[in-house]
Amino acid sequence: MEEKGTISVNTENIFPIIKKFLYSDHDIFLRELVSNAVDATQKIQKLASIGEYKEELGATKIEVVLDEKAKTITIKDRGIGMTAEEIKKYINQIAFSGATEFVEKFKGIDDANQIIGKFGLGFYSAFMVADKVEIITKSYQADTEAAKWTCIGTTDFEISKVEKKERGTEVVLHVNEDSKEYLEKFKVKQILDKYCKFLPVEVEFDGNVINSTQPIWTKNPNDLKDEDYQKFYKELYPMSEDPMFWIHLNVDYPFNLTGILYFPKVKNDITLHKDKIQLYSRQVFITDEVKEIVPEFLTLMHGVIDSPDIPLNVSRSYLQSDSNVKKINSYITKKVAEKLTELFKQDRENYEKKWESIGLFVKYGMMTDDKFYDRSKKIGLLKNLDGKFFTFEEYLDHIAPNQTDKDGNRVIIYTNDRGKQDPYIQSALKKDYDIVHFDNIIDNHFVSVLEQKLEKVNVKRVDADVANKLIDKGETLESVLSKDEEKKIKEIYKKAIGDDKLEPEVAALSAEEMPVTITLPEFMRRMQEMAEMQGMLGGGMMPDAQTVTINGNHSITAKILAEKDEEKQKQIAKQAYDLALLSNGKLTGSALTEFVSRSVSLIS
Ligand code: ADP
Repeated sequence: MEEKGTISVNTENIFPIIKKFLYSDHDIFLRELVSNAVDATQKIQKLASIGEYKEELGATKIEVVLDEKAKTITIKDRGIGMTAEEIKKYINQIAFSGATEFVEKFKGIDDANQIIGKFGLGFYSAFMVADKVEIITKSYQADTEAAKWTCIGTTDFEISKVEKKERGTEVVLHVNEDSKEYLEKFKVKQILDKYCKFLPVEVEFDGNVINSTQPIWTKNPNDLKDEDYQKFYKELYPMSEDPMFWIHLNVDYPFNLTGILYFPKVKNDITLHKDKIQLYSRQVFITDEVKEIVPEFLTLMHGVIDSPDIPLNVSRSYLQSDSNVKKINSYITKKVAEKLTELFKQDRENYEKKWESIGLFVKYGMMTDDKFYDRSKKIGLLKNLDGKFFTFEEYLDHIAPNQTDKDGNRVIIYTNDRGKQDPYIQSALKKDYDIVHFDNIIDNHFVSVLEQKLEKVNVKRVDADVANKLIDKGETLESVLSKDEEKKIKEIYKKAIGDDKLEPEVAALSAEEMPVTITLPEFMRRMQEMAEMQGMLGGGMMPDAQTVTINGNHSITAKILAEKDEEKQKQIAKQAYDLALLSNGKLTGSALTEFVSRSVSLIS
């Protein structure tokens, strides 16, 4: 007996649509068909385990067979199989019942992941690469006959009887001309490796089982050793250094999620580490673009997330507002904060040792996620120039006695370049100020987080002002200069520097300070940095806002004022100014050359 019929579709032919709209990633046909085979296999295993299926289960391996000569790819399983009636019900009708809606909704969408599955189209993705597809199947149910379904990519299909003794399904794809690449072993292997590597049922291709059916994220953490996690990491990222530590995720309510997230050792180049998390759904690889699924700062982590509750068939922008995704996000954030807190509490010394890398996660998280800030504010560290670590609270206590300004603000002083800022550091150290060492690329931004979050705290780079003024304690040092002398010394410097617009300040600094100091106020520097970040030309666009401070109490100031020879006066002032530029790293080009030859003549 042979039956012919028409796949029920009430609008247009579905096949051109499949071919047209699902073009972006043809590779996934194999994922869909092998996943179906896995489902069918797990169903029979389930039936057997509850005693609904009493026959011998036998081997349940899925086979993918490539026949280059016949130009076919066959996916064979020993799952529950289908009767002819079931084929009609599951394959012919269901897929197309929503055809009108489908056509309307997905005009113009080119991401196959968004469509497949939504309308039960998994199986039909076969037609992206095949012009004829056969299903040869025998149901597990006793006294049913095997059936063969054939479809050549039109809405017409054929069902006939066929000889098949074993339970299960074979799907035969007659690969079309345009898809010849799929007839190559290495290509099939590559796709299987990408999508099927961790499927829960053994899949054999070319004589080898290509998957491990129980990847470690599906196991109980209590049964796993550190080596297991490290080994798995190497499997995922063969080229990477060992991870620092990891979190094993495992929830089943209110959503289902398993996975392992690793903290890699992050060096300064963040981008190298980003976007490496792999997303799975019931052990089927879906994507490694998880931007919308994990909080931004956690894209620095590596590893695997497996959740059937992440909707895969909706647009990426919709994902972020999905309530499950939101819950998953805050769950992961919470877990990460908990893990870090645990590490901090259990072994602070080790935590401090790893702070360079850990700090990047913590700071990045604090910057981008308020909730994370709240969860981790007690484990954020500041490191001072002695290499000592403090929590924020400890640090504020530490500096309170000597670094509180007249308004009660505690002033955190930091350097981000010990070499270049050394003269300023030395001046600040003379005042017994403590200096925080920030040297990470994200520290520039982190500074403003500290200021926003910590109450009554100012953060200043060590070269933001002369040491005496870094912290305004409301004290004034007596100046030895009269008003007249101040005016006079300013004029001398203006002439010596040769810049009319320059308005040097005279300040009563301590006598050991430099005769002249150049500083850039914290606020102005941040503005400039922002402008540079946004691609405007640094400095050029900004008014030159640096401050030139003449130390009224310095002996050189007195010497200049006492000097009768105007030329000599100018020369000393110029030299003092150049030294200030030099300390600030701004003495370059012809000014530097001039400075060197002037210095030579001064000492000879
Ligand atoms: P989905 O898998 O999303 O339900 P598909 O189009 O891939 O959509 O498959 C439709 C239905 O066909 C499945 O739900 C299942 O009942 C049946 N089916 C597909 N492949 C097999 C198979 N290898 N063995 C048994 N049944 C299958």
